[in-house]
Amino acid sequence: MPIETTTATAVPVRFRDDVSVELVKHSASDGDVLWAARVSTAGEQSLEELTKDPERSKGLINYLMRDRHGSPFEHNSMTFFVSAPIFVFREFMRHRVGWSYNEESGRYRELQPVFYVPGPERKLVQQGRPGKYEFVHGTEEQHKATVAAMEQSYEQSYAAYQEMLAAGVAREVARATLPVGLFSSMYATCNARSLMHFLGLRTQHELATTPSFPQREIEMVGELMEEHWARLMPLTHAAFNANGRVAP
Ligand SMILES: Cc1cc2nc3c(=O)[nH]c(=O)nc-3n(C[C@H](O)[C@H](O)[C@H](O)COP(=O)(O)OP(=O)(O)OC[C@H]3O[C@@H](n4cnc5c(N)ncnc54)[C@H](O)[C@@H]3O)c2cc1C
Repeated sequence: MPIETTTATAVPVRFRDDVSVELVKHSASDGDVLWAARVSTAGEQSLEELTKDPERSKGLINYLMRDRHGSPFEHNSMTFFVSAPIFVFREFMRHRVGWSYNEESGRYRELQPVFYVPGPERKLVQQGRPGKYEFVHGTEEQHKATVAAMEQSYEQSYAAYQEMLAAGVAREVARATLPVGLFSSMYATCNARSLMHFLGLRTQHELATTPSFPQREIEMVGELMEEHWARLMPLTHAAFNANGRVAP
C-alpha cells in the first residue's frame, strides 16, 4: 500500500511495495498465429481457414510451440505501460530482441518522489552458497529495519535532489543523487514470442522445464504482463505452459 510522508523541503514522498502494468494497446490473438502458420500450406487462402476446425487450430499452435517454430508467434503486438523501480528497468531493458522501449526522462522533467520498499511478503534473506541458494522470509524486526533504512535514505537523497534544483542545478546533474529504488515509467511493446522469452527467464513456475531464478520485483512485472497476455491469446498461453515455458 502506498504510504505518504514529507521531506525537510516539504515535498511529499511516497513509498510503494507493488508495481503496475497496464495494457494500453494490443493487436494480439491466437488467430494471428494460425494465419501466419497456415500460409505455409494454404497460401493467401489461410485467413479463411481460421474458424474451420478449433481442435485442429489448438493442435497446430501446440505443434508450433513444441517444435519451436517461432516466427508465427511474432505477428501480433502488445504495448504495456509499466511503473516499477529503476533497478527493475535496468534488468528489463537487457531484453533486446522483439522489444521497444520509451522511458520517462530525468533530464526533461523533475522526477517524482515515489520509492520502492519491500512488502511484508517479500522474502528478505538469502541462504545457501553462490549458484545454489534460496530466499526465505526474514523476521518482523528485519523487515522493519529494512523499511526504516530505505525510507530514511530515500528521504535524504530526495531532499538533496530538491536542494540542488532549488539552487539552480540542472535536473540531469541533480538526479545523480537518486537511488535505483526510485520509480520510473515506460512503454514497452513486444510480441508473444519476445514476451515468452522474457517470461521464461523472469518468472519462476512449476511447469518450467528450465528453471530460472529472477529477482522477485521483475517477476512481479512479468506476472502482471502474463495475465494480460493469457487473456488475449489463451491457446498460445496454454501451449507455452504445456511445453515447459520455453519460448519457441
Ligand atoms: C536470473 C538472471 C540473472 C542475470 N544476471 C545477470 C548478471 O549478473 N549480469 C548481467 O550482465 N546480466 C544478467 N542477466 C541478464 C542476461 O544475461 C540477459 O542479458 C537477459 O536475460 C536478456 O536475455 P537475452 O539476451 O536472451 O534476451 P534478448 O536480448 O531479448 O535476446 C533474445 C535472444 O536473441 C539472441 N541474441 C540476442 N542478441 C544476440 C547477440 N548479440 N548475439 C547472439 N545472439 C543474440 C539470443 O538467442 C537471445 O537469447 C541475468 C538474467 C537473468 C534471467
